[in-house]
Amino acid sequence: MRDFEGLVAAVTGGASGIGAATAEELEERGARVARLDINPGQDGIRCDVTDDESVRAAVTETVERFGRLDVLINNAGIGAQGDVGANDDAEWHRVLDVNVVGIARVSRAALPHLRRSPSAAIVNTCSIAAWAGLPQRALYSASKGAVYALTLAMAADHVREGIRVNCVAPGTVDTPWVGRLLDAAEDPAAERAALQARQPTGRLVSAEEVAQAITYLASPLSGASVGTVLAVDGGMHGLRLRPH
Ligand code: NAD
Repeated sequence: MRDFEGLVAAVTGGASGIGAATAEELEERGARVARLDINPGQDGIRCDVTDDESVRAAVTETVERFGRLDVLINNAGIGAQGDVGANDDAEWHRVLDVNVVGIARVSRAALPHLRRSPSAAIVNTCSIAAWAGLPQRALYSASKGAVYALTLAMAADHVREGIRVNCVAPGTVDTPWVGRLLDAAEDPAAERAALQARQPTGRLVSAEEVAQAITYLASPLSGASVGTVLAVDGGMHGLRLRPH
């Protein structure tokens, strides 16, 4: 399906995991894609979502290179472990700056361009952590709760401008991020097996499955979906199961 033919997308965190899979999926469906990332690799555009100047330069470069901007995927994010007392102020500010304020910075820079598109859409990467009450994820859960609320507010503010805003809520996705967490465990293979066993489907979600959901929410196929959240979690939320 070439439903993004002629359109331009920017994907933050586009160099790895869910962002990289989403960039590939959008390209396969005809879009030209700017991969905005703090570690952009060879094909990407350098962009630190915590730095307003860097964000504005990256969005400007995207539009100069590709001529327009139709779709924004706010996907860059970082994790944090521990209960509410585990992280100091600096860590709280650092994670919220990437996961929440980062979305505001990139959206602020992109909105003037999106307003000119007849097919404008924004998709934010949330997480089931926003409402699942996961243990030892206080800061991360707070950041994703804010992403969910921000998605709804953005959806309300921009729907009349023809910009649809939605979000995806992945469960446990097999990306380098989860790989790093498993590698830090005493027995990574046993930890992976235990993590898989806790999934209702018996396996982790793939980055490609999340990319498909993001792409759906960015495409006219979801033209009547505004301010929605699409869980891609192997049943964790729908079945009210917890990963621990
Ligand atoms: P990942 O670590 O594989 O990729 C994240 C990308 O974001 C990296 O390329 C990294 O360089 C980039 N990034 C980090 N800080 C940045 C910054 N300041 N500016 C620009 N880019 C930056 O992780 P992933 O698993 O693909 O996660 C992507 C998104 O999915 C995140 O928002 C994460 O919270 C969310 N998510 C992941 C999972 C999971 O299980 N992997 C579950 C739910 C939600």
